[in-house]
Amino acid sequence: MIQIAIDGPGGAGKSTISKAVAAKLGIVYVDTGALYRTVGYYVRTQNIDPHDRVGVSGCLPQIVIEVRYVDGAQRVYLNGEDLGDRIRTPEMSMYASAVSAIPEVRAFLLETQKDIARKNSVIMDGRDIGTVILPNADVKIFLTASAECRAKRRYDELIAKGQTVRYEDVLREMNERDTQDSTREIAPAQAASDAIVFDNTGMKLEESVEAIVSLIREKTGFAG
Ligand code: C5P
Repeated sequence: MIQIAIDGPGGAGKSTISKAVAAKLGIVYVDTGALYRTVGYYVRTQNIDPHDRVGVSGCLPQIVIEVRYVDGAQRVYLNGEDLGDRIRTPEMSMYASAVSAIPEVRAFLLETQKDIARKNSVIMDGRDIGTVILPNADVKIFLTASAECRAKRRYDELIAKGQTVRYEDVLREMNERDTQDSTREIAPAQAASDAIVFDNTGMKLEESVEAIVSLIREKTGFAG
């Protein structure tokens, strides 16, 4: 079994790259952001302010989150319902970021994440994977790129999904979210001291995937 931790800011390509690396190595790709998005979604349906620690932690007992893997793809169920792309909107990004700064929310999602990594060889992406969730991961990568490059990628992704967004708004919201994520008191999104920082500004997807697969093979001897 191997554990690969991929952390970094939004739009760095964590999920696209991790998915491709997982397919090449035959391991499970775990998108932990989806869990925070799911909590954010529930909080929104209850009209709770996502920054309200008491309100948000009070509704956690009403939430059952289940993660399943269907043909290698991750599905997250909220109280039995697959939310699909409803958690992928810019609004849900902000909700996820707000609720993720609440310690009770992080504690609530901790076991789910550790449990998946205990049962499978994984490449797990998030903000605190190398620092908190998998401190003993075989390889830790902190993936980053310039803010403009990350915003452009996120913009293209949202447009491809048929959403109506403006690049300037995507860039501003991304910067807000990064600041919120990296300066929060609990599990701030920062590189673990033993992580390899990989800046992929201007790199093609395949180049990043190849570089990371080689790095993992070199460091672990995993043939996959
Ligand atoms: O990765 P994604 O953009 O889907 O994550 C949504 C939000 O969830 C992030 O902005 C971050 O605040 C939070 N998150 C986190 N820890 C993780 C994964 C995501 O705090 N491991």
